[in-house]
Amino acid sequence: MLRQGLMAASGVVLARARTGESGLWLTLFLRGEGVLRATAPGAESGHVRFGGGTEPFVWGTFQLHRGRAGGLCLSGVDIADDMLSLRKRPEALYTAVRWSRLVKRFLPFEYPADVLLANLYWNMRLLSVPAVPPAAAAWRFLWRWLEDWGLAPDLAHCSRCGGAPEGAEWTEEGLLCSHCVRDRQGARPSFSGAELTLLRQVAERDGEAVAHLFEKNESFIKYEAAFALAARCAEGLLYEK
Ligand SMILES: [Zn+2]
Repeated sequence: MLRQGLMAASGVVLARARTGESGLWLTLFLRGEGVLRATAPGAESGHVRFGGGTEPFVWGTFQLHRGRAGGLCLSGVDIADDMLSLRKRPEALYTAVRWSRLVKRFLPFEYPADVLLANLYWNMRLLSVPAVPPAAAAWRFLWRWLEDWGLAPDLAHCSRCGGAPEGAEWTEEGLLCSHCVRDRQGARPSFSGAELTLLRQVAERDGEAVAHLFEKNESFIKYEAAFALAARCAEGLLYEK
C-alpha cells in the first residue's frame, strides 16, 4: 500500500483517459502495488513532460507522489520498453487492450500481483513478434494467468478417466477425451490431438521458444482459430471463478 511522499515502481500503463485541465488519468499496474489510478498533470499540454511515458502499454519505472487532494500524481517516468512494434500492429494492439480490460476487471484495486504482471510483460513481448498469431499469445497469457490462480485445466489428461486424450472437448469439468464425452449432451469447444499438443507447447514453453516455434513453422498459422477458441475458453474460466 502506498504511503505519503514519493515512491517509484516498475510496471505498465494499462489505460489512460483525458481529464478536464490538460491532464490525464492513468491506470497503472505496478510491481508490489497492483493496479492503481494516478493523474499525470500537464501531460497533454505543449511541453512533452513525460516523453511518451503515458502511452498505453509502455513499460517503465513510474515515480508517484500524493497530491494535495490525496490522489496519486505522476511525477516522472523512466521508459524501459515502449513496446513500439506491438503498438504499431492493430491486431496486437487490440489483443493488448483486451488483456488490460481483463486485468482491470478481475484484479482487485491496489492488490499486488507480480506474477500476473510478469506474465503480462512477457506475453506482450511475444505479442510483438510478427510471426506469432496474437491469438496464440492470448492463449498463453490467459492459460498462465489461470495457472497462477490455480484455475488452469490439465491439458495432458482427461479430467474424468485420466487418460491422455487424442482429442478433447473443453467442458465445465475440464478437458474430456472423446470416450468420456460420448454420453454428454450438446456441442462444446473441441480440439484435435494436434491442436492440443500445440496448445500445451505454447502454454508451457518459455516465450523465446514459442516465438521460435512459430518462426520455424509458418504453417502453424492454420491453428490460429484453435488458439482463438482456447483463449475464449480460458477467458470464460476467469468469469466463472
Ligand atoms: Zn476420458
